[in-house]
Amino acid sequence: MSDLHRLSIRELSEGLAQAKFSSRELTEHYLKRIAKIDTQVQSYITVTAEQALAQADAADAAIKAGHATTLTGLPIAHKDIFCTQGIKTTAGSKMLDNFISPYDATVVAKGKAAGLVTLGKVNMDEFAMGSTSENPHFGSTKNPWNLEHVPGGSSGGSAAVVAADLAPFATGTDTGGSIRQPASFCGLTGLKPTYGRVSRFGMIAYASSMDQGGPMARSAEDCAYLMNVMAGHDAKDSTSVQKEVDDYVSNLNNTSVKGLRIGIPKQYFNVQGLDADVKARVEESLKKLEEMGAILVEINLNMTEAYVPTYYLIAPAEASSNLQRFDGVRYGYRCENPVDLMDLYKRSRSEGFGTEVQRRILIGTYALSAGYYDAYYVKAQKVRRLIQQDFLKAFENVDVIAAPSAPTTAYKIGANLSPTEMYLGDIYTLAVNLAGLPAINAPVGFDKNNLPVGLQLIGNYWSESQLLSVVHQYQQATDWHTKRAAIAEENA
Ligand code: GLN
Repeated sequence: MSDLHRLSIRELSEGLAQAKFSSRELTEHYLKRIAKIDTQVQSYITVTAEQALAQADAADAAIKAGHATTLTGLPIAHKDIFCTQGIKTTAGSKMLDNFISPYDATVVAKGKAAGLVTLGKVNMDEFAMGSTSENPHFGSTKNPWNLEHVPGGSSGGSAAVVAADLAPFATGTDTGGSIRQPASFCGLTGLKPTYGRVSRFGMIAYASSMDQGGPMARSAEDCAYLMNVMAGHDAKDSTSVQKEVDDYVSNLNNTSVKGLRIGIPKQYFNVQGLDADVKARVEESLKKLEEMGAILVEINLNMTEAYVPTYYLIAPAEASSNLQRFDGVRYGYRCENPVDLMDLYKRSRSEGFGTEVQRRILIGTYALSAGYYDAYYVKAQKVRRLIQQDFLKAFENVDVIAAPSAPTTAYKIGANLSPTEMYLGDIYTLAVNLAGLPAINAPVGFDKNNLPVGLQLIGNYWSESQLLSVVHQYQQATDWHTKRAAIAEENA
């Protein structure tokens, strides 16, 4: 029983169904690991031990009574951006450090209905703005592969818990790469679904036209199980789409790599700052896919240079609007002894928000202001459409598009990159969100410092099954996704 954390989601599900172990045993196993190992990784903001054990007992009863689902009794960690009823939901901000959500996000509610056991809520960049999970209020989560390095962000806590085996899988959100980049930095598989596939209800908003939740796990197969729970229309989210949901697990072998046309954007491999090891590992993985029968096709994505400026106008603009609700009156942080209403607003917001969040509110407010709206916001929306059209044109000729997920591997905590240096690190992920497309990260090897490298595959709209399937075939033929960080091998 000491190695329950090494089992895949399918093995855990089968083990529970065959009564090889109980959900209580499994949950206690993870809680013990968290107590021992998370002092080093610092991924959990809140551990919900008591509630988890109660959920585990309920799951065991359901399994005994014969009304379990595939995932009944499996533990999960939620990014602390998903509202959880009765449990603190911070979005990684001091602003919400005292916020106990009165309701569950749809993703959380669906997890509960499927019988998942919530281990707790995990760290992230404040309001999902960032790429490192160096959180000004809750501390820096560590990369399990090297504790001196960042796990990536903003879903860095979600990546770290899975990579350190402190949860078998986790939810994440991706507005500009926040599932794919931390998955890449931590050697995991992570799927950013098509915009509208997963409900945003109860997911604290950053940039609403791009925010999308998705699964983070060790393999495409593990992600498929969680996607089956997360995906689907939700009347409570007007942008969630009324479209039949695939069975992602049974579709895992439905796409053949043989004959699959993979587009290689010329512009992506000439990006300044693309690390040589990252480039080499990604190219090797493409070679492997070619050996498996894929056809590599060079393509052009001419709008590449516009990705960073377009995203970094639209995302802050939406953020400045979304974050207006945190005014120190209705909920969240309130400053001490305000002298009047203006003072209350000003000090609550300047004390409650960290530097990066304040920077984005300022940029966004400026871009939306009467005199600059046309020059910045409207123009960015037009460029956004061109970026989308660029992809649609490419998909006339290829099935998927390959890219690195990030130009580098995980850098050191405290590297203190300037905002523009930091933003440039998102070059490979932003366009997918601007266009609303699905994309997946798969681990494809290591750099010279033994830090993971990720391959990103971008699909056409609603091609989640295809992306999971292609990565699944790749993972059947390779073993990168089975490699574990030393800290994950430690027993509690
Ligand atoms: N790193 C990007 C940003 O800072 C993406 C974040 C995200 O996807 N939530 O905005």
